[in-house]
Amino acid sequence: MLSVEQAQQKILQAAPPPLAQTESVTLPESLGRVLAAAQIAAVDVPPAANSAMDGYAVNTADLAAEAGWLPVSQRITAGVAAAPLQPQTAARIFTGAEIPAGANAVVMQEQCEADGGRVRIPAGLATGNNIRPRGQDIRSGQRLLAPGCRLQPQSIGLLASVGIAEVAVLRRLKVAVISTGDELVSPGQPLAPGQIYNSNRFQLAALLQKLGLSPIDMGSIADDPALTRAALSSAAAQADCIVTSGGVSVGEEDHVKSAVQALGSLDLWRLALKPGKPLAFGRVGDVPFFGLPGNPVSTFVTFMIFVRPFLLRLQGLDYREPRPQRRPINFAVTRSSFRQEYLRVRINAAGELDAYDNQSSGVLSSTAWADAFAVVPPDTTCERGEQLDTLPFSSLFC
Ligand code: AMP
Ligand code: MG
Repeated sequence: MLSVEQAQQKILQAAPPPLAQTESVTLPESLGRVLAAAQIAAVDVPPAANSAMDGYAVNTADLAAEAGWLPVSQRITAGVAAAPLQPQTAARIFTGAEIPAGANAVVMQEQCEADGGRVRIPAGLATGNNIRPRGQDIRSGQRLLAPGCRLQPQSIGLLASVGIAEVAVLRRLKVAVISTGDELVSPGQPLAPGQIYNSNRFQLAALLQKLGLSPIDMGSIADDPALTRAALSSAAAQADCIVTSGGVSVGEEDHVKSAVQALGSLDLWRLALKPGKPLAFGRVGDVPFFGLPGNPVSTFVTFMIFVRPFLLRLQGLDYREPRPQRRPINFAVTRSSFRQEYLRVRINAAGELDAYDNQSSGVLSSTAWADAFAVVPPDTTCERGEQLDTLPFSSLFC
C-alpha cells in the first residue's frame, strides 16, 4: 500500500512538461486563463501628474507666508490637456485632471475661499500636496505579471491600466472524462431496476471547469472490454489527459485496467487513503491517464488530492499547494485506521470543524454539505477540541 504522500510524489514526478501551446485572447476573454508570457508595462501610470482632489493648482513659490488671494487663470477638467500655469495665478482643477506645467501643489477646494475670479489660498501649503506624480503606480518597463499566473479580475484591471488589450495565454488543457458501469443512467432518464444515476460524469466535468480546464465529456461506457478500449483510444486522440471513474477494482467486471495495459501502461495502487482505496495511474499511448474509483465520494477525494495538482501543473500554472489550516474539531475520532482519512467537514462561524454525521464513502451528500477536508493521519484518534489539518475546498481551486 502507498501512502498519500508517496502517491502524490510518484504522480507529480511522472507529469509531462507543462503545455506550451498559446493563444491570444482579449481582456474580456482572459479571466481565469494562465498567462503564457510576462507582461511588461510600456507606459507610466499615471501617464502624467494629476490632481488627487477637486481644488486649485498653484505654485508654492507664488504664495506668501500668510493666506492670500490669487486670480483663477484657467479651468482644468479630467481628460483635457492643460496650458502652463501663468505665474502668480491659480488654476481651478478637478480630480484626475493633469497638473499644469509650473504648478507644484493642489489645495482642496474645502480649504479655499472662491470669490468671482479669485481664490484665497491658505498658508503653509507643501510642495507636492495632493498631486499624484507621474508613474506613481507603474513605471514604463516594469514587469507586471509573471508567466504561469492565473488571470484574476484585479490582474485584468492592471493590464487594462497600461493599455494592454490582448494577452497570450496557454491553451486550455483538454481532459477527457469517461465513466464506466453497466448500471449508470444519465439524469433526466427513468431508472430501471438495477440502475443508478451517473453522478461522476457531471461531478468530474464540473471539477475540471472549476479549475479552468476544458472537459471533454465522453459519456459513460458499459462494462465491456472492447467498448472500454475504443473509448480510451478515442479519448487519447483528443485529450491531454484522461480521467475515468469506476472499473479499476479487481472484480471481473472491471475492464479499465486491462484496457489501459493493452493501450499503454498502468500502475494500479492500493492507497492508504479513506475514502478512495484503488487508484490507477498510467498512460494511454502518450496521454496521461487516471482511473479513479467509481464510488462518487472516492472519486471526489482522489480527484482533489491526486488529479487536481497534476492537471494544474500540466496546465502551466505556477502553483503551490495550500498549507493546511489547523482547526479544532467539534467531534471525536474514536476509531483509528491505518489509512489516512479525509473527513468531510464544515468550518463553522467560530472557526471550528463540524463533521458530516455519516462519513461513509457511499454518502455523496457529505461532500456537497462540506466546505473542507479534515485530515486524520494514519493510526490516529482525536478528542473533541484537538486540532486537525484542514483543507478548505476553496483553497484547492486556485
Ligand atoms: P466500481 O469502482 O466500478 O466498482 O464502482 C464502485 C461503486 O461506485 C459502485 O457502487 C458503483 O455503482 C458506483 N459508481 C461507479 N461509477 C459511478 C458513477 N459514475 N456515478 C455514480 N456511482 C457510480
Ligand atoms: Mg463499475
